Amino acid sequence: MADFHVHTCLSPCADDTMTPKTIVEAALKRGLGLIAISDHNSAENVEAAVAAAESLPLSVLPGIEITSAEEVHVLGIFETCKSALEVQQVVYEHLISGQNDEKLFGYQFAVDQFDYVVSENERLLIGATDMSVDQVVAAVHKLGGLAVAAHIERERFGLLYQLGFMPESLELDAVELTSKTTLKEVRDRFGCTLDFPVLRDSDAHFKEDIGKFSNELVVEAPTLAEIRMALRGVEGRQLIN
Ligand SMILES: [Zn+2]
Ligand SMILES: [Zn+2]
Repeated sequence: MADFHVHTCLSPCADDTMTPKTIVEAALKRGLGLIAISDHNSAENVEAAVAAAESLPLSVLPGIEITSAEEVHVLGIFETCKSALEVQQVVYEHLISGQNDEKLFGYQFAVDQFDYVVSENERLLIGATDMSVDQVVAAVHKLGGLAVAAHIERERFGLLYQLGFMPESLELDAVELTSKTTLKEVRDRFGCTLDFPVLRDSDAHFKEDIGKFSNELVVEAPTLAEIRMALRGVEGRQLIN
């Protein structure tokens, strides 16, 4: 089972106990075989999270949750930390300037694989970038990542609420639901066809929520290439949820 949307203590709104070891332990306890780390507008904890799962039966993919200019959240999920950190660089160049106010938004801890705090990120990670949704998707694709519109059914930062419609030209690899809402309910509510693969993830900000929603994948290995094939339903690979 795979949960593609897990925050760490780097996200201001995530619990400060969401450290790599804690996340890995909680994911294993939940019976997950794969998670993706997706902090708001930063990937500074992906290397630590990947390292924390080394030699354990859990694959950790590096990712990021990017806020577009329209305040739509888009997940970028990558094969390598290098790609995630490269897209982070693009995001930092486009992120609204300003400093995080930890008393207002929460702490933004960059940590190592042993859960030690390395530094505190001072950027306004809770803010938006000046990139349109299309530009965000293009930036993710340019670095070989999967672009997923996050929690599309949600009022805050969900694509359908923020835009009011599903742009047909948007080249998403999948859309994500983070509730029990059925596809039919989403289609009826927004009057759209939703011709995209649908992931169900937890968007966990607390360890108890990791794996609350997850996806069954029929793949030969926990790689991005295999996941891409599963999303497309080709060569026997499948996404079941
Ligand atoms: Zn979000
Ligand atoms: Zn999130």
